[in-house]
Amino acid sequence: MSGIVVIGAGQAGLSLCTTLRAEGFGGPLTLIGAEPYPPYQRPPLSKGYLLGEMARERLFLRPAEWYAEHEIELRLGAAVEAIDRDRRRVTVAGEAIAYETLALTTGLAARTLPAEMGGDLDGAHVVRTLADIDALAPALRRACRVLVVGGGYIGLEAASVARKIGANVTVIESGPRILGRVASERTAAVMRTIHRDRGVTIREGVGLARLIGEAHVVGAELDGGEEIAADLAIVGIGVDPRCAIAEAAGLATDNGVAVDALGRTSDPRIWAAGDCASFPWRGGRLRLESVQNAIDMGNAVARNMLGAGLPYAPVPWFWSDQYEVKMQIAGLSAGHDRVVTRGQLPAVSHWYYRGDHLLAVDSIGDAKAYMVGKRLLEAGRSPDPAAIADPDTNLKTLLA
Ligand code: NAP
Repeated sequence: MSGIVVIGAGQAGLSLCTTLRAEGFGGPLTLIGAEPYPPYQRPPLSKGYLLGEMARERLFLRPAEWYAEHEIELRLGAAVEAIDRDRRRVTVAGEAIAYETLALTTGLAARTLPAEMGGDLDGAHVVRTLADIDALAPALRRACRVLVVGGGYIGLEAASVARKIGANVTVIESGPRILGRVASERTAAVMRTIHRDRGVTIREGVGLARLIGEAHVVGAELDGGEEIAADLAIVGIGVDPRCAIAEAAGLATDNGVAVDALGRTSDPRIWAAGDCASFPWRGGRLRLESVQNAIDMGNAVARNMLGAGLPYAPVPWFWSDQYEVKMQIAGLSAGHDRVVTRGQLPAVSHWYYRGDHLLAVDSIGDAKAYMVGKRLLEAGRSPDPAAIADPDTNLKTLLA
């Protein structure tokens, strides 16, 4: 008997399955994953797990027996090769699996360096999967000079771990500044200071020409020809949504699998959620790359698959741990015309407005600012910028 098949055994796929069962779906449910492991947490991969402070078993989101108890058939270790929408079946490792309804939670793939740029040398690592970290963590402990290519979350979290381990660390970022895609100029400036104060060399506006080495990385040539020594390279140059099987099946894509406000693709029997899905947002489309979105959208889409009919409208939030510092972001600052800064290191926050309307709050080491900002955003409220800038304002009073 066919039921619901979910392609992608990450956080979004698990959330979706959990909610389907919690909301009473009693039919057959199959969760298919390309990696050989049941769903696990990715956030610790570039933080505590890479550092060796978190045990492997703690990564797994559910114990192995949970899947059987909830009658979820886990198919691991093989990627879905094709979706046949006419016959309503997917092909995995040559076998056809029938579906009544299908959900895509296929996530992201890390961009890698091509072989001609040294991407296939020993010592060149990416940070996306558990297997990536199981290869990187021991190599990092042996490394003396670490080159981090890319100054996004992956690059900076990995730089902080490498520095804690004692390596000499250089980050190169081809864009004009670090965190260009995910945080504002002011927040980037604070994070740059935090890294430099801890001895990391950050070079912005310079890309990688190629990694150098015969079999193993021994250095890198930068754009412009300068060479630097390195015995390990961590490549954090971004990700791409995995939507090849959706495209091959003729589903609409637009920076990811395009879904409507409920999470339905251009085929009414197929839904999508998480990092791979782009959904309607303020007159355009948005695709969020965050664990919060994987959880919340997985839950929301599962409810809609069962008929809830509730548009997905998140207040996005993100966090990153670097050294002992927690950076937390609520909302999206794109389109702001004013920034109000509150405090200074070690506790600083930036509040982004468009006119009088609060769009986002970035906080570094200031959990209260983040918590208050997030709750104000969720309530659609915009505090007076002067009150935010005033260090005597007790932020919690703004929630009253
Ligand atoms: P990212 O945010 O796209 O950052 C990659 C950076 O690398 C970009 O600034 C990019 O610059 C730069 N770059 C690209 N090619 C380069 C080159 N050849 N040389 C030097 N710099 C280069 O992506 P990421 O840091 O790799 O993160 C991957 C995914 O993991 C994202 O979805 C991220 O949100 C997620 N993640 C999230 C967290 C968190 O929320 N705490 C932690 C880890 C990972 P251009 O933009 O100019 O190309």
